[in-house]
Amino acid sequence: MSKLRFKVVEEAFHKKPTAVNCPSERPSEYFAKYVFNREKMFKYLPSKVFAKLTDVIDNGAALDRGIADEVAAGMKKWALELGVTHYTHWFQPLTEGTAEKHDAFVEHDGKGGMLEEFSGKLLVQQESDGSSFPNGGIRNTFEARGYSAWDPSSPVFVVDDTLCIPTVFIAYTGESLDYKAPLLKSIRAVTQSALDVMHYFDPSVKKILTYLGWEQEYFLVDEGLYAARPDLLLTGRTLMGHEASKNQQLEDHYFGAIPSRVAAFMKDLEIQALELGIPVKTRHNEVAPNQFELAPIYEECNLAVDHNMLIMSLMRKIARNHGFRVLLHEKPFKGVNGSGKHNNWSLGTDTGTLLMAPGKTSEENLRFITFVVNTLVAVYHHNGLLKASIMSATNAHRLGAHEAPPAIISSFLGTQLSEVLDHLEESSNNDLNSLDSKQGLKLNIPQIPELLIDNTDRNRTSPFAFTGNRFEFRAPGSEANCASSMIALNAAVAEQLIRFKKEVDGLVEQGEPQMSAIIKVVRGYIKECKPIRFDGNGYSDEWKDEAARRGLDCETSCPLIFDNYLKPASVRMFESTGVMTRKELEARNEVKWEMYTKKIQIEARVLGDLVMNHIVPVAIEYQTKLIDNAYKMKSLFNDEEAGRLSAGNLALIREISEHTAYIKEHVDNMIAARKVANRIGSQREKAIAYHDQIAPMLEQIRYHIDQLELMVDDQMWTLPKYRELLFIR
Ligand code: ADP
Ligand code: MG
Repeated sequence: MSKLRFKVVEEAFHKKPTAVNCPSERPSEYFAKYVFNREKMFKYLPSKVFAKLTDVIDNGAALDRGIADEVAAGMKKWALELGVTHYTHWFQPLTEGTAEKHDAFVEHDGKGGMLEEFSGKLLVQQESDGSSFPNGGIRNTFEARGYSAWDPSSPVFVVDDTLCIPTVFIAYTGESLDYKAPLLKSIRAVTQSALDVMHYFDPSVKKILTYLGWEQEYFLVDEGLYAARPDLLLTGRTLMGHEASKNQQLEDHYFGAIPSRVAAFMKDLEIQALELGIPVKTRHNEVAPNQFELAPIYEECNLAVDHNMLIMSLMRKIARNHGFRVLLHEKPFKGVNGSGKHNNWSLGTDTGTLLMAPGKTSEENLRFITFVVNTLVAVYHHNGLLKASIMSATNAHRLGAHEAPPAIISSFLGTQLSEVLDHLEESSNNDLNSLDSKQGLKLNIPQIPELLIDNTDRNRTSPFAFTGNRFEFRAPGSEANCASSMIALNAAVAEQLIRFKKEVDGLVEQGEPQMSAIIKVVRGYIKECKPIRFDGNGYSDEWKDEAARRGLDCETSCPLIFDNYLKPASVRMFESTGVMTRKELEARNEVKWEMYTKKIQIEARVLGDLVMNHIVPVAIEYQTKLIDNAYKMKSLFNDEEAGRLSAGNLALIREISEHTAYIKEHVDNMIAARKVANRIGSQREKAIAYHDQIAPMLEQIRYHIDQLELMVDDQMWTLPKYRELLFIR
């Protein structure tokens, strides 16, 4: 082992868990301590202002600017009591992560001193000088202004000394430049259209809510080892590294004991998450070594998205306090599972009914089937778009890699639900009573609740699985903003529910009784969306052929998958639901292509540098030792004997030369190919060139580096190896 490598491995091995500052109260007492939630609103706001603000939050009433000053004053009072000195508009630009610009509360008091100032104006809206955020050409310089505007539906919170105000980020001309604005629009669209449909079944329902429960996977790596791997540091993944002889073959990590250093990190993370009002509940090891998962109790979609963004930044911060780095990259290590984010999505009423949960009466079961089937139709028609919504340069490594969902969107329903849909499709009975078990029909729906809740035949290979009372979208990447896939899904379902209502109302106008009209339309939909249903093994090659025959989107090139956003059906869908305009979609795609190119570009540069500074010099140094040895053998033995004894070494010398020659030549080729690609003007074409030409070169070069790693003396190898990176005691 090289000296540096030995030192970091040695240190990592002996590290003790960092002590966690445990609050003396119980979680229920410190939960949301740093959140300006209803309880604090009630305490810090005049009752009239409280009533108006909760009306905005609960019923989407327009925000009366007149109350903003009083709300800001209440927030300031609460925040100052917590020792807060700064505030920030917190938003989610089109890059990963969140952005914030901190301003102090202080203003001149006009008498030569300072006072703490925070007005309604500052709370509600701010002009951002952030012209450096990606905007896809929407903001040319003369109208480069962007605004952040307060989103009252997600509560203000405190991190360290800063009051964070969740905001949307929009251009001067009104286009959204972030994830939150279209997310809120998609939520409005799907909840409104679902409410209209829900009124067929229960006219008393006043409001529909969209829920999201995310499961976040991640890796932890010791920070000393991480720092000794420039590829991890600069790209988030290992660009080289031979698989450890033991990784996940034994699958002994899953649900195994959590190492004590990791347990301390998790405890700390959970405490701080709960203080920020994030209802974290589950934690466990994942399949790969050093891989873990965290999941909260599901929440309203907008809040859940914010909480996921917040938890990712908390993880990064807290990991450092425990001598770790958290890897949120979808595929940090080759040959070991990658990380995803499972988005559990559902719709529910203000009275607590989940629309995709079976019920006891025939009406309830028809409602259940209606919402499930409409979702399937939406996913079917927009399967390519949904894939685009989860696609990124980093997630592309994971999809289709026999451990994550395949790069084809399909839906698993389980045997019971599949049978129910098949029966409904085949039966010709449009009578609502046919859905009631009392009639002794095959449908026998009242048995579903028990069967589905114990959803034992879960298919882990399905990207969009029905899991009892919700759909679980398993394709999103671990690093992604959950909003991207939720925007596409909400909007697609909204469009579909609008179509459904139109068709049912049409039949009713022609004299068809309402329930029978619903059954008729649903029956047609079951036939229509059949190609999206797939209960088999999503990893198999047969499925790829079968999916292509069914007309599902089987494209695997990331830049081409993004084209789905601009297909006429997608633009129509986003525009008709009021979620995004063509101009916004075009701008966002420019950003996506550009980000794709940049990621590969950085990887190619880092790989080139590492090869020239770490790999080739070490390989040559070792080779020189072997050559030296071969010469010395000659001085000790006669020619024939020396030749025989050195045969192994000579072969090794040759192999090392061949690998290093290949590497050097291909790094040069890669640099030349990059120069050509960089001259391409169109972002889309450039991304395609990077995908088709440069990305494969990274893999080819890597193969030879990994071979060298196996040959070169371990004592000389400078970069920590997989077996070291992947184990925490
Ligand atoms: P698993 O790993 O078996 O899929 P987990 O318990 O880890 O299950 O995660 C399930 C996630 O789904 C949790 O975040 C949970 O709160 C969420 N969830 C449960 N029911 C719903 C629902 N109706 N809508 C949205 N999310 C839900
Ligand atoms: Mg899950």
